[in-house]
Amino acid sequence: MSHHKTILPAASGAGAQATTLGVMGGGQLGRMFVQAAQRLGYFTAVLDPDVASPAGLVSHVHVQTDYLDEQGLAQMLQRCAAVTTEFENVPAGALYTLGAHLPTAPGADSVAICQNRAAEKLHFRRCGVACAPHAVIETAEQLARVDDALLPGILKTMRLGYDGKGQMRVRTRDELAAAWGELGDTPCVLEKLLPLAFEVSVILARAANEDVVLLPVQRNLHREGVLAVTEVPAPGVSQTLAAQAGEAAARIAAGLNYIGVLCVEFFVLEDGTLVANEMAPRPHNSGHYSLDACDVSQFELQVRCMTGLPLTVPRLHSPAVMLNLLGDLWFDAQGRERTPPWAEVLALPGAHLHLYGKSGARHGRKMGHLTVTAATFEAARTVALEAAALLGLPAF
Ligand code: ATP
Ligand code: MG
Repeated sequence: MSHHKTILPAASGAGAQATTLGVMGGGQLGRMFVQAAQRLGYFTAVLDPDVASPAGLVSHVHVQTDYLDEQGLAQMLQRCAAVTTEFENVPAGALYTLGAHLPTAPGADSVAICQNRAAEKLHFRRCGVACAPHAVIETAEQLARVDDALLPGILKTMRLGYDGKGQMRVRTRDELAAAWGELGDTPCVLEKLLPLAFEVSVILARAANEDVVLLPVQRNLHREGVLAVTEVPAPGVSQTLAAQAGEAAARIAAGLNYIGVLCVEFFVLEDGTLVANEMAPRPHNSGHYSLDACDVSQFELQVRCMTGLPLTVPRLHSPAVMLNLLGDLWFDAQGRERTPPWAEVLALPGAHLHLYGKSGARHGRKMGHLTVTAATFEAARTVALEAAALLGLPAF
């Protein structure tokens, strides 16, 4: 399906004339995509099985079926002028079906590679981008043959991992065997545990005409495998390192013939080397700050990519620090439910609160984020630390 025809929002938003953009998946990324699309005058359709999905709640249309449901996909085909995905675990098969008839950004082939850690690493290497030494473990023989040099390591399921789920740290061969069993003897990748100085990510948007624009490099702090803090401009990242990361990400996207927003996560090792960790074929948690700190957000860039509208280089107009707000904040030290002190947080200058409309707060569940913008990075960081203290989050 060609992407070269521009899909403009209809002049009148009413009923039949409306131009509808579709998104597979109804999580917070879908919600922020829907909001960006609506701001530009598009109607939206979200496909997600959950009756109360964050994106479904704010979309003009919510198709409430499984991702592979024929009738659900038929409804998306009938209503939408173009489709995107917000969730890399949407079965690639659903995107192949949609892509046969509609512009889909990103394409199913790109998503399929991102869904498989081995294929992803192979792609990095093909593009001349370093990744962690690793071994594929699909059989007991492969487990037995693993090179000792990969220990201590992290065993990660080949598919369906996110937020540190589906991975275990292992120090010895015995621990490795036990971990493989615990993960269900499913196909895995064992990665060598690398000495990280810190982590960064690059978010880019690539159009059908091959134009590429980059968000500034972000520095990310993870806690328990989940993103906790994003800082921009990235402290400790030289112009050389930023350029190297940007070029690597652009090569990775070009090698996929990618259309849409792509995030590449990198490790910066203690010796300064840049190593690609993984990529996400969609807007990314580490780019949420762009809503408040850039003149074009990662979500608007996704809209522009899928509709063939021009890309402009995002300008960071304010330094920013983003704090992820996980479900843990909805409980006090005794485990009783509470409402976090929003009024006190919002009394801080430059605090932008985003809540995703999820009802059940649970340990580790992404409920929202807070971006603090300020005239200088130091000021943003100081206020973000005050917000963290009010919320009971650790300092960083
Ligand atoms: P998400 O999709 O939410 O980013 P994920 O579950 O796919 O996460 P990874 O990005 O693979 O998980 O790993 C989560 C975190 O664990 C990384 O951001 C990093 O902090 C740490 N980590 C992962 N692999 C390695 C490694 N090889 N060496 C050192 N640390 C690692
Ligand atoms: Mg990750």
